Amino acid sequence: MSIAIVGGGIMGLTLGYELSKRGLPIEILEASPVLGGLAGPMVLEDGTAVDRFYHAILSSDSHLAQLCDELGLTSELRFHETRMGFFYGNEIHSMNNIVEFLRFPPLGWVDRFRLGLTVLYAQLVPDWRPLESVGVEKWLTRLSGRRVFQNIWRPMLRAKFDGSFDDTPATYIWARLVRMKSTRGGASQKEEAGHLIGGYATLMKAMAQRIRDAGGKIQMRCPVQEVLIEGGRACGLRIRQERRSFDAVVVTLQAPIFRRLIPAASPDYLDYLGQTDYLGIICPLLVLDKPLTGFWTINITDDRIPFTGVIETTAYIDPQYVGGHHLVYLPKYTAPGSPWQSKSDDEIREIWLQHLQAMFPSFDRRSIRYFLVHRERYVEPLHRLNSTHLSPSINTPIKDLYLSTTAQIYPALTNGESVSRHARQTAQLILGGGYPSAIPQESIALQEETCAAC
Ligand SMILES: Cc1cc2nc3c(=O)[nH]c(=O)nc-3n(C[C@H](O)[C@H](O)[C@H](O)COP(=O)(O)OP(=O)(O)OC[C@H]3O[C@@H](n4cnc5c(N)ncnc54)[C@H](O)[C@@H]3O)c2cc1C
Repeated sequence: MSIAIVGGGIMGLTLGYELSKRGLPIEILEASPVLGGLAGPMVLEDGTAVDRFYHAILSSDSHLAQLCDELGLTSELRFHETRMGFFYGNEIHSMNNIVEFLRFPPLGWVDRFRLGLTVLYAQLVPDWRPLESVGVEKWLTRLSGRRVFQNIWRPMLRAKFDGSFDDTPATYIWARLVRMKSTRGGASQKEEAGHLIGGYATLMKAMAQRIRDAGGKIQMRCPVQEVLIEGGRACGLRIRQERRSFDAVVVTLQAPIFRRLIPAASPDYLDYLGQTDYLGIICPLLVLDKPLTGFWTINITDDRIPFTGVIETTAYIDPQYVGGHHLVYLPKYTAPGSPWQSKSDDEIREIWLQHLQAMFPSFDRRSIRYFLVHRERYVEPLHRLNSTHLSPSINTPIKDLYLSTTAQIYPALTNGESVSRHARQTAQLILGGGYPSAIPQESIALQEETCAAC
C-alpha cells in the first residue's frame, strides 16, 4: 500500500505529515528543487534565505500554532506590533486606532461612522451563506454608503481583482474583515503579525523530517506528468515518461494544473474543473539597506499606481533574521489573461520604481540591494456569485484519486492556517475511506530519497 501526494507546498506537506503520523506509507512528489510552493523560500545572492512572497502568521492562527507545538517550533515563533496605513492624496495615513480613523481625510464624519460600522457589522455576521448571493458592491454600498464605496472600497477591490469585480460575492470582503480583526492580539488589542524564524520554510523542514522519520519519502525535482487511470481508478503516475504504481493518489495542485494531469478523466469532469480560475500575481521583492516606511501594510487607494500595496515584512521580522536586510514586497494581483503578466521583469522594475519614487519622493534608489520580480499564474481561487457548487470536492469521480486544493477553501481566505487545516480534513477523509491507519511504525523502513524516474 502506498499513497502518492503530488505537490510539496503547505497542503502536500501537511497532508503527508498527517497521514504518515498515522502510519500510512506516503511519498511526496514535488516538481521544484525546494519545498514550500508559494510559501517557499528563495536564496539571495549573498546566501540569505528569505520568503519569495510575503508571509505573516496571525496570533489567531490556532491550527498553525498547534502544528508548531507538535513539531517543537513554538519557541521559533515571533510576534511583533505592527502598523497599517492607507496611501491617499499623496500621503500615508496611519490607521491603527480610532483617533487616526476619525482623522482620515477623504471621509466626512458620517462616512467615517458608516465605514467603522461596516467593519464592526461584518465581524459580527454569524452566517456567511446569505452573503454568497449578494454582490460585494451592493453589500458595501448598502452598509458604508456610495461615497465610502467610491473612495475606499472601489479602488481597493479594483486593485485586488485587477479591474472588474462585478461578479464577486460579499463573502470576499466579509472573510477579509474577519481575518483583519484577528490581527489584533492580546488584551491591548494592538495590531500584531508574526513569523517563524527562517519563515514558513522552518515549518516545511520540520514536517519533512517527521515524514522521513516515519518512513515516508519526499522526492524533489519530480514533476508529475500524468495521473494514470485504468478501469476507473487511479493506479499510479507518469513521471519523466516512466510509470510508477501507487494504491492511491492525492493531488494538491491548483485545479487547472490538476486538470492537465488527468487527460483520461471524463470530459464532463474536465469541463467542470475548467470553470475554476485563479488570480495570478506579480510581486517584486525589494531588498533595501534601510527601512522604507516602518508600516507592515500600506493599502493603496489610487488607481494610477499599479501595485496593490506596500508590504514591509521587516516591520515585524527583525532584520537580524534576514541577513540585516529590509524587505519590501510590491504585489500586483492579475486577472486571468491580464496583459501585466506578459511584461518583462525589466519593464516591471521600471514602472514599479517610477511609482514608488512618486509615492515616496525621498526614496533613494541607491538603497536597493536587490530587486527581484516573482510571478505566479495560479494564486488565489476566484469565487463568483452563487458558485459554491463549482468548488471541486476532495473525492473525485475517479476511484483512489483525491484532490486537496485551495479552491475548496471557502469562504475563508487561503493562507497557511486555512490550507493546513484543510489538509488535515483531507487526511481524515482518506483515513475514513478504509485505509489502514495503524501500521506499526517499526515495520516501515526508512527510504532513500531517490525517485527512479527522476
Ligand atoms: C503574495 C502572496 C502572499 C501571501 N501571504 C500569505 C500570508 O501572509 N500568510 C499566509 O499564511 N499565507 C499567505 N499566502 C498564501 C499561501 O502562500 C498559500 O495559501 C499556500 O502556500 C498554498 O499552498 P498549497 O500547498 O496549496 O499550494 P502551492 O504552494 O502552490 O504548492 C503546490 C506545489 O506543487 C508543486 N507542483 C506544481 N505542479 C507540479 C507537478 N506537476 N508535479 C509535482 N509538483 C508540482 C509546486 O511546485 C508547489 O510546490 C500568500 C500567497 C501569496 C502568493
